[in-house]
Amino acid sequence: MNIATLTIDQVREGLKKRAFSAVELTREALEFAQAENPKTNAYLHFSSERALEAAARVDEGIARGEDIGPLGGVPIAVKDVIVTKGVRTTCGSKLLAEYVPPYDATAVIRLEEAGGILIGKTNCDEFAMGSSNESSAFGPVRNPVAPDRVPGGSSGGSAAAVAQGTAVVALGSDTGGSIRQPASFCGVVGVTPTYGRVSRYGLTAFASSLDHVGPFARNVKDAAALLRVLAGRDPLDSTSAFAPVPDYPVDMDGGVEGMKIGLPREYFKDLPSETGDLILRGVETLKQLGCEVRDISLPHTAYAVGCYYIICTAEASSNLARYDGVRYTVRTPGDTLIDMYRNTRGAGFGLECKRRIMLGTYVLSAGYYDAYYLKAQKVRTLITRDFADAFERVDAIAAPVSPSPAFRLGEKTDDPMEMYLSDIYTLTGSLAGIPCMSVPCGKTVEGLPVGMQLMTRHFGEADMFRLAGAYEKASSFFA
Ligand code: GLN
Repeated sequence: MNIATLTIDQVREGLKKRAFSAVELTREALEFAQAENPKTNAYLHFSSERALEAAARVDEGIARGEDIGPLGGVPIAVKDVIVTKGVRTTCGSKLLAEYVPPYDATAVIRLEEAGGILIGKTNCDEFAMGSSNESSAFGPVRNPVAPDRVPGGSSGGSAAAVAQGTAVVALGSDTGGSIRQPASFCGVVGVTPTYGRVSRYGLTAFASSLDHVGPFARNVKDAAALLRVLAGRDPLDSTSAFAPVPDYPVDMDGGVEGMKIGLPREYFKDLPSETGDLILRGVETLKQLGCEVRDISLPHTAYAVGCYYIICTAEASSNLARYDGVRYTVRTPGDTLIDMYRNTRGAGFGLECKRRIMLGTYVLSAGYYDAYYLKAQKVRTLITRDFADAFERVDAIAAPVSPSPAFRLGEKTDDPMEMYLSDIYTLTGSLAGIPCMSVPCGKTVEGLPVGMQLMTRHFGEADMFRLAGAYEKASSFFA
């Protein structure tokens, strides 16, 4: 067994055949992840005790002849913005360096109920704000494919863990691209489901109207299997949807012939040629599979960056108000209550969070609310309508994930605008709340992975997986 390349099916088969026990596999996975971690800094902490207990439960179930569950024995890494009972959850922030949550996120409960083994919590940009994992208070993550480069962000640790093979699958969170962009940079599959498809209960809020929990995996089927477990109504999250959950991995086998794929011209016009060529080669493969490719327009794309960075900072400024030195946090004392708040927040938040709190407070303030926040909400509606119009003509959209492959550590930290602008292709889908994913579509001449983005209508994940699965099979980039 090569632990670094295991798939969910291989783990389940191995357990069924008694090739290894869940406890043996978990021990090995933990040892491997701990040994590899200095290379990438992907994990902030390991949850060995909890993992071994969960594995023992899986083994007991097998001994009793019970079904091992869709994620039975599978080592899973979870982004450190998702709360885990009794296991430190830092959100990549100094403010929560010692925070041990008293409850589990719904996503974590569901994956453990399905037999999954939580092996550790992964590094990320502070409160999920960033595109490079460099805003973590606990140091950046290195891209396992090219260690002088970023893994993308904000879920860089989860993407790196799956790419380096220390977890079979992982959970990330995506507000404006934080699953798809690191998946593209590290050469793995990353899925942002429809807004409301997966419960956000226990996901630390960054921008509540945009936050999603979603899977990372090394192949499409594993991502589909993980989403199948996570998805569905949760009474603890009023925004979670009642829509029935299809059996995504099973539905993947239907064909894609005749499927209509839109190529949004706005996404290709300024795209650097190396990335563009790889995406277009991916599109060629879709054509060979019998898909019909159409030129489409998403006319409000150019406004997405401005719109997103107004809405997300507004919501973040409100959500982050709770870190005040009274609740959750490490406290920095002061002579008065106000001084204590100021000192705690001043010492605790990193630069990126402070920048966003200031921007968000500004766009929500009296006099500017109408000019910025309300305007941005209207633009968001236009962007959502662009997609609704497009999906009248096509079944899915193929697009780039990011204008460039993984950049060098430190390359963009001095220029936040440049970092924000590079989110252009992922922000639109997030603002519209549609399902989107990144699927590897090749490597640059320097050997850096590039992902192709696939998007479908709200709750159209089954179509998206079918397309991505067919593409994965047809493309020659997969082992
Ligand atoms: N890069 C985007 C940002 O910095 C998206 C982050 C995310 O999806 N959490 O806000």
